[in-house]
Amino acid sequence: MPLDEVAASLYAWDLADEGVEHCLDNLEALAGVNSAYLVGMMHKEKRPLHARFYPHNPIRKYYTPEDSRAYWIPKDGAYPGRIKPLTSDREFLAGTDWLDTLTDAARKRGMRTGCEISHTIIDANVARTEYPDILQRDPFGNVVGTFEAIEAQRALPCLNNTDVREYLVNLATDLVTNHDVDFIQSCLVMFGSGYSRNNTVGRSALSVGWTALAATATGGCFCSVCESKARAAGLDWDAILAEARHIAIMITGRDLEEAHEAQLLRESNYSEAEFLLEHEHFASWLLFRRHSIDELFETIGSAIHTARPGVEFRYNTYMAQPELSGLNFKSAFAFVDSVRESDYSDQLGTPEGVAVKRAKLMKARRALGYDKPLIAALGVRPNATPEILRASIKAAVDSGCDGLSLGHYDGATMERLRAVRDGMREWEATEADWQHTPDRES
Ligand SMILES: [Zn+2]
Repeated sequence: MPLDEVAASLYAWDLADEGVEHCLDNLEALAGVNSAYLVGMMHKEKRPLHARFYPHNPIRKYYTPEDSRAYWIPKDGAYPGRIKPLTSDREFLAGTDWLDTLTDAARKRGMRTGCEISHTIIDANVARTEYPDILQRDPFGNVVGTFEAIEAQRALPCLNNTDVREYLVNLATDLVTNHDVDFIQSCLVMFGSGYSRNNTVGRSALSVGWTALAATATGGCFCSVCESKARAAGLDWDAILAEARHIAIMITGRDLEEAHEAQLLRESNYSEAEFLLEHEHFASWLLFRRHSIDELFETIGSAIHTARPGVEFRYNTYMAQPELSGLNFKSAFAFVDSVRESDYSDQLGTPEGVAVKRAKLMKARRALGYDKPLIAALGVRPNATPEILRASIKAAVDSGCDGLSLGHYDGATMERLRAVRDGMREWEATEADWQHTPDRES
């Protein structure tokens, strides 16, 4: 099957600084992009992410966004619930619907259009002040943040909380109803996976085997909503909490007996299977999280399809080991229309990184089935070389992908963008490559 879609993400400040036509000119001409989406709700993350400075922004050297702001103009009345989206207070961004700005320009070029709701949906400071009751809790009642970045003082909403679910449904419905989009892409951070090192590049040696599973005991969620829901489902919450607390103290080494136990286990041949058999209540909690995520995907997918049939619900993976956040590809992907496998191992600049990408794509392909588009992310940023990017495109072809999705234009160099087109040609990724044409042979 051909790689029909070549998508690219853009941020509101890219459009403000470089101009939408300039961004799309580059993406279309150099990389063959035919699908553009706005990261419509973006978390607090310095841009560009890896490099210190932008390679081609004429206005600023770097940008530090506000937390979890919407870069479209939320429709009046679309958020009757308790939680409402915040928009930017920055003068150069405020008051403009950047999603319309992008989709209007993209449509004129015949491109597909989309909007991503990225990792977080509520400003962490606002959430801690105004909605502390909706936040994920660890087994000791502490607020759970995203990833391992405790210093970022982020706060994750509990995905079982009804106010949070209503807010997510309202976001999706507002976007689909009031904007010209073909897909809503979600990259939502799910249940806190605890303080093992996980990210979108490679697979860390610190987070394999039983230690990665055990680290989820320092994540979420153990809030009162989860407790009620789990008890209603017949789970033994007191036993879950007792096991989770013990595991959390052990894996973090926060007390002497538990630290000693963890040392023994680390020096032993203890396995994931043994860990799960031994901690049956903790294992029941892991399964409870999975069912909660399945249900969440069903809720979001159905909100999108109810608002406008035919709009795609695309899930964008965000972790090397998504299962640690409660996501099981096979069960959750029953409710999505397409998947963007967000691996950026191209950034390692090595053949081993490409092998990691290929493995992740194979896993997603099998879980998604063969009739829904699988889109391979491509890290077009400076650490990836053109040679590695071309090899990544081969990995996408090898694993039966249906498209590519470039991350991210702001940090891309023109040379990397050209490598996308070159790699597509080299690995015969489109139907045009499968047809003899006299011009090409001359
Ligand atoms: Zn919860």
